[in-house]
Amino acid sequence: MPEGHKTHRLAIDHCALFRGYRVRVSSPQGRFSSDAQKVDRQVVAKVVAAGKHLFYEFENDLLVHVHLGRYGSFRLGPVPSPPPRGLVRMRIASENVTLDLNGPTQCRVIDAVDRDQVLARLGPDPLAGGSATDVWRNIAASKQPIGALLLDQAVIAGIGNIFRAEALFEIAMNPEIRGCDLDRKSFDRLWRVLVRMLRTGVKHDQIIAVTAKEAGKPLEKLDKHQRLRIYGKTTCPRCDGPIAVVKVAARKLYVCKFCQA
Ligand SMILES: [Zn+2]
Repeated sequence: MPEGHKTHRLAIDHCALFRGYRVRVSSPQGRFSSDAQKVDRQVVAKVVAAGKHLFYEFENDLLVHVHLGRYGSFRLGPVPSPPPRGLVRMRIASENVTLDLNGPTQCRVIDAVDRDQVLARLGPDPLAGGSATDVWRNIAASKQPIGALLLDQAVIAGIGNIFRAEALFEIAMNPEIRGCDLDRKSFDRLWRVLVRMLRTGVKHDQIIAVTAKEAGKPLEKLDKHQRLRIYGKTTCPRCDGPIAVVKVAARKLYVCKFCQA
């Protein structure tokens, strides 16, 4: 599932492509057709990300709300628009480019009130100006383990399974520590790592946990297997011990039980 860096990157890219353009919005698959009519031939005002949610705002004050979920994906194409590939839920076409959306969990037209309801259920998003103090308040009030809290979108928005594993490993934090048992200093270290990884993710359009110094080369030159330290790996890069896979919040968490004791 795309994590927060991906939705923010998509918002930046789609904003650059469509902002200020009067677009055609349709649903080749048909499932989004009646909603598409509400924003068809309208001008795109902006595209905004919040956590794992995307909002395409139109000048008639309606918005398209997209959550990619596990299977959603976008595809860019030329104009005139090519024949749809697979089940294209939504197609947005300007005079320059065609954007197809397949397989999202959510794709609907809403108004600002609905949008605010979605935002009210989300915790602070570090990439959208969310504050460390607000996230700290959520975490310190909880008896849940930090490994579960990081995936709870109401606690902090935009963190997924890879960021969770990589950030906890970087600061050698045991994922089982309860939020209420965490001290502020440790939380601040975690926050700094998450913010750095999220921003790097937006910049490079992929999750990169290692630093350029540690990798010995620029981040854009890293091979796929060099970007992460622990997620999907079997051997700990620090102690050479085995990496354990445990279930925390119903998702696989990669952890070194020696380094993160
Ligand atoms: Zn280790």
